[in-house]
Amino acid sequence: MKFQDFNFVSQLQEGLDTMGFTKPTPIQQEAIPHILANKDLIACAQTGTGKTASYLLPLLHKIQEAGISHTDTVILSPTRELAMQIDQQIMGLAYFTGCTSIAVYGGGDGFSYEQQKRSLTDGVNIVVATPGRLIAHLTSGTVNLKKVKHLVLDEADRMLDMGFYDDIVRIISYLPAKRQNLLFSATMPPKIRSLSKKILHNPVEVNIAISQPSEGILQQAYLAFDDQKMALLKLILSNKSFKSVIVFASRKETVKKLNSALNRANISSEAFHSDLEQEDREDIMVRFRGKSLPILVGTDVISRGIDVVGIDLVVNYDVPPDPEDYIHRIGRTARAETTGTAITFINDKDQQKFARIETLIAKEIPKLPLPEGFGDAPVYNPKAKKAFNPKWKNKNFRKKA
Ligand code: AMP
Repeated sequence: MKFQDFNFVSQLQEGLDTMGFTKPTPIQQEAIPHILANKDLIACAQTGTGKTASYLLPLLHKIQEAGISHTDTVILSPTRELAMQIDQQIMGLAYFTGCTSIAVYGGGDGFSYEQQKRSLTDGVNIVVATPGRLIAHLTSGTVNLKKVKHLVLDEADRMLDMGFYDDIVRIISYLPAKRQNLLFSATMPPKIRSLSKKILHNPVEVNIAISQPSEGILQQAYLAFDDQKMALLKLILSNKSFKSVIVFASRKETVKKLNSALNRANISSEAFHSDLEQEDREDIMVRFRGKSLPILVGTDVISRGIDVVGIDLVVNYDVPPDPEDYIHRIGRTARAETTGTAITFINDKDQQKFARIETLIAKEIPKLPLPEGFGDAPVYNPKAKKAFNPKWKNKNFRKKA
């Protein structure tokens, strides 16, 4: 199948050609015809499947074909990073069309709020927004959503996890009742089902099987106690063939501590987490994308959606609580058919979580022995309630790394 088969307006096809998209991905093949046919849709698809273009293309086609000049589409995103990325993809695909868009998210300064307000007052075609900031604009009366015909909830599961349910319902109360609703979610827990029952009308369901990690990723793990992890990380980072690296940790406190420890060891890195000002986040991402910043230490804020080509190593300093986050985290490397390495540190408490990941990806990940001088590692026994810790047997058994 080719994109030409959808008969998109020529300006959109031109955008596709310029972006080098030749063949629709499976989610695009399945979702686009339903969206063009004005059906409500619930789609289970992760980042990396091409899900963003699967809804942007038919919506841009409709806006361009009808010559719409008001705000026609609202896309809700859990994070500003994803909102910015969706907006960037609109800019690329819509380059030759007359369609306009704006990304509306919090965390910026008063200037960006004013800038968003002006663009919203002018009536852009597509508003991509995080729920909280959109509500701020709605209550101040700057945005008119009375003619909106399309609502997209992107990464809906993430939005619910982040507590946006009430905000979503509130935003919907500003929209006309007659509209097309598209819900995209990486997972389909019961709360997504009940949200979809509340919002969608006779939806078509599209299910793209969980995308397994790319074959180009070399996956490895070390069993390591918490007090062995830092030395192990430094040793791994001393391998100069890793030029662009993301180190993931589940909590932002760990991210901050890790980053400071790396900086103290003269290793150039930046911490990326939700406490940062928008300006700092953007500056860090620009430097990381441009490869002048070699190492990013971050929470799962960057595990989804951040599309940086050329990351050759992902280190999971801890095991992510949600097995699917593992796939998202390691999917930051080996993008666009390159290769990459993903190394996970498993402490004595994280073994069951890691076993769940191995079940999800239907693969056993090799556990490498700790380098010499690191002492004993935890024994891998995920079935035990708590893995055996040699420290319990003999406190001086293990050398401190
Ligand atoms: P997404 O799942 O929407 O985050 O998309 C993942 C990546 O795939 C993004 O970098 C898109 O630009 C890219 N992409 C989306 N659709 C296609 C396509 N049909 N051909 C090639 N790349 C694509």
